[in-house]
Amino acid sequence: MAKKTSKKITPDKSSKEAMAKKINKGDIGKLLGQWSQEFAVFVPSKEGDTTKMVGWGGEDAEFLEWYRNTVMPPKASFLPMLEEMFRFQKDKGSYKLDPTTLDDQEKLIFAIRPCDANALAILDMTFRDAYEDPYYLSRRRNALLVGLGCTNPYDSCFCTSMGSNPFDSTNVDIMLTDIGDEFLIEGMTEPGKELVGKTDGLAEVTTANVVKSEEVKKASSSKVTREVNTRDIKERLASSFEDEDYWKNVAEKCISCGVCTLLCPTCYCFDINDEMFKQQGARLRSWDSCAFPIYTKMPVENPREEKWQRVRQKVCHKYEFYPMNFDVIACTGCGRCIRLCPVNWDIAQTINSVAAKTS
Ligand code: SF4
Ligand code: SF4
Repeated sequence: MAKKTSKKITPDKSSKEAMAKKINKGDIGKLLGQWSQEFAVFVPSKEGDTTKMVGWGGEDAEFLEWYRNTVMPPKASFLPMLEEMFRFQKDKGSYKLDPTTLDDQEKLIFAIRPCDANALAILDMTFRDAYEDPYYLSRRRNALLVGLGCTNPYDSCFCTSMGSNPFDSTNVDIMLTDIGDEFLIEGMTEPGKELVGKTDGLAEVTTANVVKSEEVKKASSSKVTREVNTRDIKERLASSFEDEDYWKNVAEKCISCGVCTLLCPTCYCFDINDEMFKQQGARLRSWDSCAFPIYTKMPVENPREEKWQRVRQKVCHKYEFYPMNFDVIACTGCGRCIRLCPVNWDIAQTINSVAAKTS
């Protein structure tokens, strides 16, 4: 484990053959210990009522017993809920700026779900392609994603309607598949293969292991039963945009709490504030939500004062505007917004119900 693994932000899958090995489930703690010599390793963790990715503290991998997915999406490791952008000091009539040191620590996010890895690829389009956000990119460029396929998806999941599946390895560097007492470990990208290749204690895979993993993948996909009809969704939303009655009906029970957006792995709205005490201060960036009534408050007007306008914005941004800009729907089907909404608002029902208007 001496040589450093270099990581590019875009998965390099030039060699399509995955490198497959396997490990006993009881040895995952040792594996994390080995990887933590090179990376800051993050694993799912329970904190009070919530679950999120936190730095691994050297304990056993007990999270494997309860983990389905985290409440807090892994985007928080790249776009923190609150971060300092720079400090400043008032000096007579001007300000002296002191840039914040960028977080470029080599990280390994362990057991990220495929939908959440796909969400990071969607966020890259905003924070890397549309403009270069140094805070996000310094974290993202130095992170290796180790995916864990889902064998127990929630009722609210609909990744299979979004062109994905519970074992989608498109945006992870290494993929883990639960094959009983062992995990299959597949290096998917060059850095992922490199890490698998130099990791001690992995065993060779048998044909029976591969057959078992294919069975597990197939069975897991069939457990995702929620279906969302995305056919012509951009056009259907565009033609329904002015249908106030429809959107009022859709938004009726929403209480504008913002949970669905703050915890959505592809939502990235933020607010920027300067906090100052005497002559010194800091510019802070924090998560924000288009569900909040004051979100779009501007000096002249608030263009989305009504709740139905804000709910429409949330849906259209994901399923109409993001595809217009980046040719991809900004929803992975992770289902968080459905299972965490306090009033059971359901984006899948909305997408399925929005109809094309003929006039
Ligand atoms: S979580 Fe539910 S109630 Fe809260 S803003 Fe979203 S849809 Fe509305
Ligand atoms: S809109 Fe809902 S289902 Fe889609 S990615 Fe966001 S939280 Fe997940």
